[in-house]
Amino acid sequence: MNDWVFEPQPAPCLPVAGSNDRFPVHRIYCVGQNYAEHVREMGGSDRELPVFFDKPADAVSLTPKVAYPPATTNLHHEIELVVALKSGGSSLTPEQAADCIYGYAVGVDLTRRDLQADAKRKGAPWSTAKGFDASAPLSPVRPAADCGDVSSAEIRLSVNGELRQRSNTSEMIWSISEIIAELSRLFELKAGDLVFTGTPEGVGPLERGDSVECVIDGVGSLAFTVV
Ligand code: MN
Repeated sequence: MNDWVFEPQPAPCLPVAGSNDRFPVHRIYCVGQNYAEHVREMGGSDRELPVFFDKPADAVSLTPKVAYPPATTNLHHEIELVVALKSGGSSLTPEQAADCIYGYAVGVDLTRRDLQADAKRKGAPWSTAKGFDASAPLSPVRPAADCGDVSSAEIRLSVNGELRQRSNTSEMIWSISEIIAELSRLFELKAGDLVFTGTPEGVGPLERGDSVECVIDGVGSLAFTVV
């Protein structure tokens, strides 16, 4: 048995709502442009297919305070329904994809919008815009059987008590099982994978001191302050 050169980082994980269990995070996949009104507010057209990107697993943030990240002056909030997988595979059908779901969480896809706009102009990767430290504040994971109907759930985000984003997951362009199936054609999905399913319209900037409150009916809530 060889020794580690140094101690490995602890595995990122999420608490499970209503128990002492923990959900170990393997990868964080995200889909962009999955609500038509948000596609329009970002200057796209209805017919564009959703795009996939990712965040590092240790971008998960469970703390009530999120540090305003460096290298941006335009940090944006994007509330999203997050799917947590208990199994995976490749080239799954939507029916097989649905069987991989462990539960759901409320997440915010924090975005350095200025760096994203710059990357879009240059045709460059989105990593610095999307994958920074603590860029994925998350609620506990709620097992699917304990959730309401996530295919038709109200989703809303307020900043300092002012409603900024409000929609319904029924407005998604690609359904949850379609997203997972499509992802599985690109990557071998595994237990522990999280999938951010896209944000509705109303994205906007956050400043230091802002208090962010997020709710997805039947799934949970998430609150944090930007410091
Ligand atoms: Mn997003």
